[in-house]
Amino acid sequence: MVAQLPAGETVSALGINVDKEKTHVIEITRREVGVKDVRVQIQYCGICHSDLHFLRQEWGSTKLPAVPGHEIVGIVTNIGSEVSKYKIGDTVGVGCFVDSCRTCDYCSQDSVPYCKEGATATYGSDINDTVGHTLGGYSEAIVVDESFVLSIPKNLDYAAVAPLLCAGITVWSPMKHYGVKAGSHVAILGLGGLGHMAVKLAVALGAKVTVLSRSSGRIEDAYRLGASNVVITSDKEAFAAAANTVDFIIDTVSADHDVNSLTNLLKPDGTIILLGASPSLTISPFSLIMKRIKLGGSLVGGIKETQELLDFCGKHNITSDIELVGVEKIEKAFERILKSDVKFRFVLDIAGTLNKNVIVE
Ligand SMILES: [Zn+2]
Ligand SMILES: [Zn+2]
Repeated sequence: MVAQLPAGETVSALGINVDKEKTHVIEITRREVGVKDVRVQIQYCGICHSDLHFLRQEWGSTKLPAVPGHEIVGIVTNIGSEVSKYKIGDTVGVGCFVDSCRTCDYCSQDSVPYCKEGATATYGSDINDTVGHTLGGYSEAIVVDESFVLSIPKNLDYAAVAPLLCAGITVWSPMKHYGVKAGSHVAILGLGGLGHMAVKLAVALGAKVTVLSRSSGRIEDAYRLGASNVVITSDKEAFAAAANTVDFIIDTVSADHDVNSLTNLLKPDGTIILLGASPSLTISPFSLIMKRIKLGGSLVGGIKETQELLDFCGKHNITSDIELVGVEKIEKAFERILKSDVKFRFVLDIAGTLNKNVIVE
């Protein structure tokens, strides 16, 4: 059996120690910096909807203590003796995974999320350290193997980069995998954290983008983000006019909705990609058969692929639209996320506001 990773420093974090308690500042132990490890002093961490499910224990048992956060941007403050990719002072990112088997077919092809052994998520995955499971980025510092650390382009706003590490890669990976390219017509359902990144990235790839929205409230935003068309899904005429015009639909909605009617928009050989985990999904075979439609899904992305995304964003000057909040606002931010009242991602100002005296409002 491999020896347990030795404990290192104690740092402040935002999380829970006991079932169902309110999120607050707790103390956690990070492992000692190993030979291949990088210690990241966290500056910013994006708030992902998954963080809320995890802290509120809505996905079954949450291992305690629990600290979420997988959209991490910070500064390297210590490195192990065999680290070659990073040096002290570099600005780096950590996304949804901090380890995997690294040898299976999927890991070898940079498909870490689909690792045969199960990848080690940045929070909530079992590991052999003194805590016993991973603790995420709502914390002062994190220790991560350099292979799972990403380089952040210097020209980008570091707070606004954070959401690229989950929301960004979650839409980028399927766009690359399923073949979105210059000239594609991409329809994006849902203009939230994922959807707004999908619009920006598809436009930068040279695709034509149509935003599909339930309400008219976000029409202006859609055009500002680069969409060339907006279809309100309840507008029967507009929906009919858009039939058979789209190559890809990126469906980011996690509430129940009618996927069959969406396929009307696709051209023959079109693809619909599900990113939102709606509780139930009914698909009529004819929705697929009659136009040879492909139905796919996708989970986050690989590490090399995430670096490619960051480099692409550096080149095209793309970041997320964010609202930066102090850690004392975490519960308020969660409430607003549940009401879709954010344009388009909250980011926690960790370095500016996290200390052990903070009282969560
Ligand atoms: Zn996430
Ligand atoms: Zn693997």
